[in-house]
Amino acid sequence: MNIHEYQAREIFARHGIPVPASEVATTPEEAARAADRFGGSVVVKAQVHAGGRGKAGGVKLAASRSEARTHAERILGMRIKGIEVRRVLVAPAEEIASEAYVGIVLDRARQADTIMVSSEGGVDIEEVAATMPEAIRKLAVDPRYGLLGHQAALLGYHLYEDPRVARQAASILARLYEAYRASGATLAEINPLIVNADGDVTAIDAKMNIDDNALFRMPEIAALRDVEAENPAEVRAREARLSYIQLEGNVGCCVNGAGLAMATMDLVKYYGGEPANFLDIGGSSNPDKVVAALELITEDPSVNSILFNIFGGITRCDDVANGIVEATSRMEPGVPITIRLTGTNEEQGVAILADHGFEAMVDMDRAVETAVRRGA
Ligand code: GDP
Ligand code: MN
Repeated sequence: MNIHEYQAREIFARHGIPVPASEVATTPEEAARAADRFGGSVVVKAQVHAGGRGKAGGVKLAASRSEARTHAERILGMRIKGIEVRRVLVAPAEEIASEAYVGIVLDRARQADTIMVSSEGGVDIEEVAATMPEAIRKLAVDPRYGLLGHQAALLGYHLYEDPRVARQAASILARLYEAYRASGATLAEINPLIVNADGDVTAIDAKMNIDDNALFRMPEIAALRDVEAENPAEVRAREARLSYIQLEGNVGCCVNGAGLAMATMDLVKYYGGEPANFLDIGGSSNPDKVVAALELITEDPSVNSILFNIFGGITRCDDVANGIVEATSRMEPGVPITIRLTGTNEEQGVAILADHGFEAMVDMDRAVETAVRRGA
């Protein structure tokens, strides 16, 4: 789950990370009033679940109340990476002496929470990683001990020479790690971490991703979810209890079981296609789920071929067949459907589909190849 910068700022501040005061505004007038309260220059920042807001024109400095209003007018309602901006954050503008990057991610390859720091801050860290990986220092944290004092200190000194500043950075890293652990995060990032006009280290951006599987034990974090800022298809999938992730391709996949779904996506790629989604309808025999799944898939305008890949175990092929028949009678998908069914009640399933003009296949390779060809 993604949360907004203003929410991550609150979490960081609660863990003792120095973060400048800020207010959230939903109208230009509110932004102007916030600027009044802070006095002096402010920064107006789009609050969306997307990085690179600065480059997209979603972060603007304002020297006056009226300028803050003008910027808020322009930023509210703009789209950044397809997401509409509904809120802006207003904060006193900091004078920046230097910009660094600090972040913690769950690194699956290292199987560890990994801290990354770089004095190449403010810019796109993926770009730094690609063009000058040596500029990023990484440390895998052993969860038995957490981030040890000397480790934090070394990272602090990697960023700054001045001991006073390096110690501030070390303390921020320790607190960032605490915030990350306490929130069930898979990512906590400050980019940029700045040295301000007073020579103090301060976070002027905040980003966190939360592990969906940790939310059940943290209702106060779960409550931060902003459904309006999320992909509407993924929101509806979650409500229908389907595991659905929208991807970039054209072959819509409807599969039962996460492992089979992954194998299906691999095979789509193997035959030269691109999956439009990951979709696991789960192990139950519920035709409503099939209907919900087909609706989700067909609403994606990039889908021009639909593939059902069903391995009947607990799921019964006849139930899925009924679901497909019912779903296609409720709505005309308008694109070819390829169906592979095998396992429990396969014969009944194939017969139900044949009655309604669908040819079901048993061979997975053949079905995937056909679906890819139909979408080519
Ligand atoms: P992002 O582009 O979405 O990561 O948004 P950031 O919050 O990181 O802002 C982008 C850039 O705007 C930063 O790297 C800074 O250079 C600049 N910026 C943000 N806040 C301030 C501020 O308070 N003062 C100044 N001078 N620049 C700022
Ligand atoms: Mn940033």
